[in-house]
Amino acid sequence: MTINFTPEPEFQAKLTWISDFVQEELEPLEPLYDCLDEKVWEQEVLAPLKQKVRDQGLWACHLEKELGGQGFGQLPLAQMNFITGRVPFAQEVFGNMAPDSGNAELLAEGGTEAQKERWLWPNLNGDIRSSFAITEPWVAGTDPTQIQSTAVLEGDEWVINGRKWMITNASRADFIIFMLVTDSEAPVHRRCSMIVVEKGTPGLEILRDIPTMHHPHSEYGSNGNHAEVLLENVRVPKENLIGEVGGGFILSQVRLGPGRIHHAARWLGEADRAFEMMCERTKSRFSFGKSYSQHQMVQDYIAESRIDIETAKLLTLKAAWTMDQLGNAAARTEIAMAKVYNARVVCNVVDRALQVHGSLGYSCDMPLEMMYRSARMTPLVDGANEVHKVAIAKAALKHVEAVEGWPSEHIPTRKAIILKRFGHLLDTSA
Ligand SMILES: Cc1cc2nc3c(=O)[nH]c(=O)nc-3n(C[C@H](O)[C@H](O)[C@H](O)COP(=O)(O)OP(=O)(O)OC[C@H]3O[C@@H](n4cnc5c(N)ncnc54)[C@H](O)[C@@H]3O)c2cc1C
Repeated sequence: MTINFTPEPEFQAKLTWISDFVQEELEPLEPLYDCLDEKVWEQEVLAPLKQKVRDQGLWACHLEKELGGQGFGQLPLAQMNFITGRVPFAQEVFGNMAPDSGNAELLAEGGTEAQKERWLWPNLNGDIRSSFAITEPWVAGTDPTQIQSTAVLEGDEWVINGRKWMITNASRADFIIFMLVTDSEAPVHRRCSMIVVEKGTPGLEILRDIPTMHHPHSEYGSNGNHAEVLLENVRVPKENLIGEVGGGFILSQVRLGPGRIHHAARWLGEADRAFEMMCERTKSRFSFGKSYSQHQMVQDYIAESRIDIETAKLLTLKAAWTMDQLGNAAARTEIAMAKVYNARVVCNVVDRALQVHGSLGYSCDMPLEMMYRSARMTPLVDGANEVHKVAIAKAALKHVEAVEGWPSEHIPTRKAIILKRFGHLLDTSA
């Protein structure tokens, strides 16, 4: 099968529009972000921009057409995400902001018609907000088979108890999708189910928004916060179960697989931004009689960053292309490689750009210090890099056979074998 990453001319025109829109209309707004009242920001600033995106037929491109999206497929999405990743709030403007974007995919896949009416359509309209809760403070988030929070069916209700944390947007969500143990005796990957709890349900308590490296001082309820959530004898109707009992792990794959590659592609938009800042600074400042751009160690930063970003983009496009051509399951290793590598690239490129800016880079006068803090989450979210590497190594080893004695490339052994066929030639050449 021929691999082709070249966009169709019609889609290339869309990419050009996206690039101009992001750089000319979104990037200049960044210094205002966090300064305006949230309602003013959403209604006065973002709403007209969202309309422009809708007018271009670019709203919620990650969703299929029947859900109000564009059904573009993963390759065009990756090419879009390289660009929209340049600006943190671009996902909201393009209608694919996490965690709403993944929850919409999940409800579309596993939700009943009644659930779609109640949560999916209003969420897609932007009338209500959502959140997604797997991680717990007392057990490894990298191994969700250890989840402890439970839901027990009593009559027509699920009774839920437990604690979750680092739950993005839980403090402002109208509903939260929880991953909960519904049968602790079932085979490991059939133990959990997904159940919706709506805001205001008695027993659901948002304990706090946890200050993080990215947002050490943000106010409770701000967009992008990560909450600690307590569930004490929370009762919800049994109809709040999404999919089937014990189907939580299968459903989570629907949500997490494509989401990973979307995030990983956006990190490269951030890396592009940092790279551009680094290049501009190196041409604009001098030391020891020459421009920074003429110092070989700085040239090394630039060359390494350029190679890193280009490699990461190709890896991401290959993963997206494989998803489109062969399905998400066939692309599992490619997705894992892109996730691991892109996380490394964005951390490294932002770090080099910050270094080249000296104290200006460390100061809050440049976006680099914020990008540095934000980028640090990339190796540990969406599955820790180590866990993806385990999967990559397992895939690489799957068809490898152990050998007894010397390795198959052992030169003396190979020489002895080949000499049995061609040894007589040695005599003649002597
Ligand atoms: C910004 C942010 C937003 C988040 N949003 C959400 C959200 O909306 N909903 C939600 O449910 N969760 C969310 N999380 C939680 C996130 O999914 C978890 O942090 C992640 O799964 C890791 O789990 P953990 O923090 O418990 O770390 P642990 O599981 O304790 O892992 C810590 C480290 O241990 C090492 N490690 C673990 N297992 C292995 C292994 N097999 N091999 C080698 N090393 C290993 C790795 O270095 C790993 O980084 C968010 C986290 C962050 C930082």
